[in-house]
Amino acid sequence: MSLIKKDRELIWHPFTQEKTADPPILITKGKGSYIFDDKNNKYLDLVSSWWVNIHGHANEEISKAITAQCSKIEHVIFAGFTHEPAITLCDSLRSLLPSPLKKFFFSDNGSTAIEVAMKISYQWWKNQGHHKPLFLAFEGGYHGDTWGAMSVGVKSGFHDAFENVLFPVLHVPFPDTWMDDEDVDQKEKHSLKILKQYLKTYANKISAIVLEPLVQGASGMRMCRASFVDKVVNLVREFDVLVIFDEVMTGFGRTGSYFAVDQTSVVPDFICLSKGITGGFLPLSVTVTTQPIYDLFLDDNFDKAFAHGHSYTANPISCAAAVASFKILTNTKTKENMERIQSVHQKCIDELRKKCEYVERARITGTIAAFDVKESVQIKIFKENCLKDGVLIRPLNRSVYLLPPFCITSDELIHAYGVILEHLNKF
Ligand SMILES: *Cc1c(COP(=O)(O)O)cnc(C)c1O
Repeated sequence: MSLIKKDRELIWHPFTQEKTADPPILITKGKGSYIFDDKNNKYLDLVSSWWVNIHGHANEEISKAITAQCSKIEHVIFAGFTHEPAITLCDSLRSLLPSPLKKFFFSDNGSTAIEVAMKISYQWWKNQGHHKPLFLAFEGGYHGDTWGAMSVGVKSGFHDAFENVLFPVLHVPFPDTWMDDEDVDQKEKHSLKILKQYLKTYANKISAIVLEPLVQGASGMRMCRASFVDKVVNLVREFDVLVIFDEVMTGFGRTGSYFAVDQTSVVPDFICLSKGITGGFLPLSVTVTTQPIYDLFLDDNFDKAFAHGHSYTANPISCAAAVASFKILTNTKTKENMERIQSVHQKCIDELRKKCEYVERARITGTIAAFDVKESVQIKIFKENCLKDGVLIRPLNRSVYLLPPFCITSDELIHAYGVILEHLNKF
């Protein structure tokens, strides 16, 4: 039986309507910005394998670090024990994060990183004798698929089936903006007005606000201004609400700076990191918080401790991959690549807007470029045509985005824009 036949018989794929989906493509290897299938067709990976890959596929340095770690210690219980890769990783990350963020709690993926931040927020208030069951979030925010993460992300449109069984969250409109957007001030004002109303009414019941700073990923690479993030954080601070930055997607250079927080003038109480953390090799996440948050869990009794953990917490192999990825991320070549990608995006998006009437709401933040396409474009066919020409894109509703690994060459990226333009203009 062919592997694909067996796959169809056995496997239930994520975010997939199995009845109508085409058979999956069998991938056998990757190199740099490309993945290869069993027939040796190659695809330029413009989704960075669901936004996790930052240095390209099969990166040798990360691969070596993993191999070396495997022969030392593959895994060990992380309560009562620790290991060098976890410590080195936290020390490295600390050097790039705003200085108050220096306490690291490990888990395995973006969703659990959010769960951890939300649970710590709630318990932080509880440890002081308060019950604050509410959270604030933005419409269009996506924070993962576990129950708490779904609750704050319910207005992303991905969790509709569960709407009636999630806990209550207050949602604020997100003032997404794009090039030549004339209404951005108005939209931001409106959002802040609603946020303030919620705060005035419910502040003493709200533990924290959760937000994706600068770019809402899953709801279509919707972008906002850094100054808006500043205003939101400053406002909620006046009402004693904790701040959680979900940088699961925006972290590790995607927005042009190492973290989106670097482009703001505020510091959150929590930052959640995952996706790019291991360069896209292995699952890992951290929820980073501050000393004042950590300190309120200290007590002679266990009751105030944070009773949360996962079997694979701080897996040493994942941590070793993350340390290796960090080294590549912070070398000058990568920094130059990030800037180069942004300038190619700018040039190509300008051209696309001139040459294709279907393109609207074009927007760029760092290495992420996106635009919406008009109704006449049949997204499914457009996507298939690009794939046939070796360009892997995965539009979100009507938003087409390019989110490449940082090793992509300018020629590869320019070629991708060419393929996209050609297929858009067929409609
Ligand atoms: C992907 C994503 C998550 C969830 O991460 P998983 O690793 O898929 O659980 C959370 N928040 C944001 C912003 C994401 O993009």
